[in-house]
Amino acid sequence: MNALTKTDTNEDFIPDDHPRSESLRIRHKLVEGFENGLVAKAGLIAHGRGEAFDYLLGEKTIESAKKAMEASIAQILLCKHPVISVNGNVAALVPEEIVELSEAISAPLEVNLFYRSREREIAIEKALLGAGAKQVLGVDLSHRTSLSGISHQRRYVDDRGIARADIVLVMLEDGDRTIALRASNKFVVSIDLNPLSRTALAGSFTIVDNLIRSIPLMTKIAEKFIEKDTSELRQIVATYSHQQILEDALRVMGNSYQQVAPMLETVIQAIEAKRQD
Ligand code: ATP
Ligand code: MG
Repeated sequence: MNALTKTDTNEDFIPDDHPRSESLRIRHKLVEGFENGLVAKAGLIAHGRGEAFDYLLGEKTIESAKKAMEASIAQILLCKHPVISVNGNVAALVPEEIVELSEAISAPLEVNLFYRSREREIAIEKALLGAGAKQVLGVDLSHRTSLSGISHQRRYVDDRGIARADIVLVMLEDGDRTIALRASNKFVVSIDLNPLSRTALAGSFTIVDNLIRSIPLMTKIAEKFIEKDTSELRQIVATYSHQQILEDALRVMGNSYQQVAPMLETVIQAIEAKRQD
């Protein structure tokens, strides 16, 4: 008799006891986002690149990333015009959480796409409004302006948002845009799982973590830091060292494989034993 139930054969079925069930659930959210017109094809691939680095991080938030989040929130609270840049992956993975962060730091959400299409912009705006956002920038064409130093579609920004922002929070951002934002004198906080991407390197502050974990954590930090005065916030900002943050993430990732290497024989034997069960 076939042991698979109807549900088991369903493409959407994720068994709870699967060792990577959480990661599969996140993938599934993204595929749903793709089917709903939020996520671009290339967004699915970009997620895969992120997953590989998250695997090396042990799929948890490392201490240095927490420090980077604290310094970033302190810097955002010190700035006048913070903006959160949102793309399809963000809208598919953390719609409610990004709206909560936007409220906690009083920063508007701006739709910002590498692969722009009117349909996708509108789908993302709808998803964010549905998640409780009061306003979504980047979609109204009458407010569209260009970021200098960038060609084609990626140059568009909103004249009420990123164009006038002093600090921008970006995720899954393209290196060229990060560099262009920096060149126009904006402070850029990036969340990027790859500590060696051009965005991670070119950002003013970088959080090497999965945005799924960092967005809710940043909201909690903001709710705590909102009580702090300017001098306290400045002190927290001063603790950030870009080089140290990136080095630490690289060290954790390197160690995670190096530590397994001497135990490889045992690991292979354990898997072999399971296969023979
Ligand atoms: P860059 O253009 O900055 O050099 P890249 O070309 O290597 O980067 P992109 O496709 O432009 O990569 O951007 C995707 C980035 O987002 C990758 O560095 C990937 O690791 C990261 N990423 C993917 N998913 C997540 C996630 N859920 N949380 C945080 N970072 C992510
Ligand atoms: Mg890129």
